Amino acid sequence: MKETKDILTGLDRYEEFLKKLDLEIKKLDDYRIAIIYTDIKHFKYINDTLGYQRGDMLLKEFVTQVTKDNSHMLCAARVVSDNIVLAVRLENNISNDNFREFIHQSNREMEDKFREEYLAARLKFCTGISFIEKNDRSLDPATAVSNANLARKMAKEMKDDCCVVFDRRMVEGIKKEVEITSSLSKAIANGELKVYYQPKMETGSLRMEGAEALIRWQKPDGRFIYPDEFIPFIERSGQIVELDYFVYREVFKFIAGRMRENKPIVPISVNVSREHLSKMEILPYVRSLFEEYRIQPNLIEFELTESIYIENTEKALQLIEGLHEMGTKVSMDDFGSGYSSLNLLSRLPIDIIKLDKVFLQDEEAENRLKENDKIIISCIIDMARKLSITSLCEGVETPEQSDYLSQIGCELQQGYYFSRPIPESDFEIFIDQGCPVGDLVIA
Ligand code: C2E
Ligand code: CA
Ligand code: CA
Repeated sequence: MKETKDILTGLDRYEEFLKKLDLEIKKLDDYRIAIIYTDIKHFKYINDTLGYQRGDMLLKEFVTQVTKDNSHMLCAARVVSDNIVLAVRLENNISNDNFREFIHQSNREMEDKFREEYLAARLKFCTGISFIEKNDRSLDPATAVSNANLARKMAKEMKDDCCVVFDRRMVEGIKKEVEITSSLSKAIANGELKVYYQPKMETGSLRMEGAEALIRWQKPDGRFIYPDEFIPFIERSGQIVELDYFVYREVFKFIAGRMRENKPIVPISVNVSREHLSKMEILPYVRSLFEEYRIQPNLIEFELTESIYIENTEKALQLIEGLHEMGTKVSMDDFGSGYSSLNLLSRLPIDIIKLDKVFLQDEEAENRLKENDKIIISCIIDMARKLSITSLCEGVETPEQSDYLSQIGCELQQGYYFSRPIPESDFEIFIDQGCPVGDLVIA
């Protein structure tokens, strides 16, 4: 006869759990069932550093902890590895919110206990909950578990919360994510992804000093998908490295093409995703592009967002140094969008600081700069100048904003006031004629 219990934890095997849950769902009466799906974030770290025996011990203690009050428990199983699922009976006097709060608290208590015991400061219990309502007697048990598992995946990505309740909209979100991540490589091959360029203007002369390369995805039906809609998904799937390399190659090709034809060109900056920091393969990749396309290093710049420097200062420093060795400039993008650390500016050899557009965007003031923001911007620009770092302000949309930035000595400006990001062919006209084209404000 097939074993119905998991040897390590003594819980049911998953198939047995589903059979029991099916029976429980069929006899639902005046109560609900909560499916609680939990896993241990950084469990692998425990196994790797303390050994599998300690890992097994943690798992057993965790199971003892979550099953100790079993008066309402209907069934429990180990699905795989450190993934534990429980089904509990919920009486009507407990609201969904209260139940979630209860699980959240229990997770926090377990984290305090186990972090100390296992010397694992980052250990976290991540739980997804799905509720089976009184009238859900025809619900498939596997669907109930997969809903809780989906919520658990969301919980795993949250910084502060560890417990998420399933919501139907999550299924739509996942469908979209799968659609995007599974079609990216084909879309690149089909030419659906194109590099657009947004000029950067020199304050004062208002001449174009350079441009930023920004990706655009245009579906065959003409519809655009903007980076904010797909980059978070492909960052999660790891495909952002493929996308960034595609952009870098396109930019190198573009510059090399212009040079071959003896046409003028300006430095182009490209964005660097945080994923590159884990493997650092970006350095040999960029080096190989320089060898292949033979362009001057000062024609390419790299933008790393402020948060990358803060999260991983040492790796960021290595990356900056590697890029500097090749002769390229590096900027700190989105400065001021998060927890800006002024002291990072003096510690890291940054060439350019890009002030985030949040400073200029204020719906209530209709893009008029608030006094407080003015003080902050001018202090940052002043400090940058003293540190010999070039300052650039992004998101410039009005002549007033541009004038103010001139007054306080901001060296470069970028924004819709000068030009939106434009396709390569329009950008070429922009460079050739030395004047803006397309959907532009300045003639
Ligand atoms: P970012 O690097 O901060 O790029 C600036 C964003 O601000 C761009 O949005 C640009 O179109 C927008 N923008 C420029 N001027 C103005 C303005 O005056 N007003 C307003 N409201 N917005 C302005 P976009 O192209 O949608 O890109 C969004 C973000 O996606 C980028 O923010 C960047 O983080 C990321 N991204 C875009 N292309 C790439 C890429 O090729 N690789 C990587 N890793 N990330 C990219
Ligand atoms: Ca950027
Ligand atoms: Ca930016």
